Amino acid sequence: MPTPEAGRAPQDRAARLAVVDPATGETFDEAPDQQPDELDDVVDRARRAWTGWRTDPAARATGLRAAADAVEAAGDDLAALLTREQGKPLAESFMEVARTAARLRYFAGLTPGTRRIDDGRPVHSEIRWRPLGPVAAIVPWNFPLQLAAAKFAPALAAGNTVVLKPSPYTPLATRLLGAVLSTVLPEDVLTVVTGREPLGARLASHPGIRHVTFTGSVPTGRAVAGAATASLARVTLELGGNDAAVLLDDVDVDRIADRLFWAAFRNCGQVCMAVKRVYAPARLHAEVVEALAHRAKTVVVGSGLDPDTRLGPVNNAPQLARVEQITHRALAAGARAAAGGHRLDGPGYFFAPTILTDVPPGHPVVTGEQFGPVLPVLPYRNIDEAIDAANGTDFGLGGSVWGADPDRAAATADRLECGTAWINHHAELSLAQPFAGIKDSGVGVAGGPWGLYGNLRPFVVHRPMEEGR
Ligand code: NAD
Repeated sequence: MPTPEAGRAPQDRAARLAVVDPATGETFDEAPDQQPDELDDVVDRARRAWTGWRTDPAARATGLRAAADAVEAAGDDLAALLTREQGKPLAESFMEVARTAARLRYFAGLTPGTRRIDDGRPVHSEIRWRPLGPVAAIVPWNFPLQLAAAKFAPALAAGNTVVLKPSPYTPLATRLLGAVLSTVLPEDVLTVVTGREPLGARLASHPGIRHVTFTGSVPTGRAVAGAATASLARVTLELGGNDAAVLLDDVDVDRIADRLFWAAFRNCGQVCMAVKRVYAPARLHAEVVEALAHRAKTVVVGSGLDPDTRLGPVNNAPQLARVEQITHRALAAGARAAAGGHRLDGPGYFFAPTILTDVPPGHPVVTGEQFGPVLPVLPYRNIDEAIDAANGTDFGLGGSVWGADPDRAAATADRLECGTAWINHHAELSLAQPFAGIKDSGVGVAGGPWGLYGNLRPFVVHRPMEEGR
């Protein structure tokens, strides 16, 4: 197994970043705390590597397939490290590793098509597609590997090189991933850099970067977009979400309760497109609260390394403090916790899975992004009111409608203002679909062929007919 330290110059080992296990609250390892001025050399090397990588699509496809194989072969180590630094149950880390490999394979199979423009003029016009150059990929701590792959797989497949910056809370699995991929990809085609701010800010504004693709919170997304104006690099932003689940009056609560619960609580609620609020018909509200609260009270919470655990800790201390504060503010304002509502005793960043009712209208736990194991359940009187409320925040990532009649649910889902809507489930994505949030949830389109073209620029060639075919 390659080690992330292999081939590093001694000065790279100087400044260190402590990495905490969220299940214990203890530091268990460290990563390099790279400084912004180190990026000049990193980006320069990425630019030089680009001159070779851009030339041969077939070699790129072979390289990305080999990369997928290498990720799978390193699956045990990657998953264990991911659980240790991120907190999620080991089974979910294995799924994340599998999704990382799947993204590499999917984009290895995509090639941009050359298209002729036929507008009746005696000119042979052709659109070809060219890569952009070094791409900066900046990702958060909730799905470090699969979100990174969602960025570097299409960028590399398109013929760009990539400088990847994980969150300082989760640098280790990404560094190991970088080391694994370096065994099959040409040197400097993918470089992982780790460190505290202002490393990301410098990367986003670096003059050698031609595309900044960012996943994270709305405020940081705004800062990244601002930083990228310095170089006028292309910007793709995948930002926060506040997805609503709207339950219709014919819903079978027993039947959907498990699915709904996990749509909100998977990865301890730290999912951009988790269900972050539930709208239930007033007649069914108590039944929905009870079904969800029962699951919240009985789910096994613990270290992700324990095979019985279904729900791990919150990833980091500041996020735990945010989740605690938003919950306590809601309770102080008159909300009631049907389950949870507090931190769990003992070490680690554990918060009891929480179901809130009686939340005052317009409270931040409904209008904002709690990003943790806390779910408000709100009653509604008629469906127009529910749809208005679902659409009534600054976010627009996803949403879902749940009911016994899928056609009726689908017709209602059509009224949601968001990028992806689901019927009777939530947050399932296809690799082949466009993924794009609206309003504050994002700029640009990732996923599928759109993700590939997001990393390419059109290059158009016109030739008079008499000069050729
Ligand atoms: P964050 O915005 O704090 O950090 C994201 C990344 O940006 C990290 O690598 C961080 O180190 C870096 N960063 C911080 N300041 C920066 C700056 N000034 N310039 C450049 N980079 C900077 O987000 P987080 O707390 O790590 O992640 C949680 C957020 O991510 C939530 O809002 C969640 O909804 C969002 N998210 C969105 C998606 C999506 O696809 N839409 C997916 C996952 C997570």
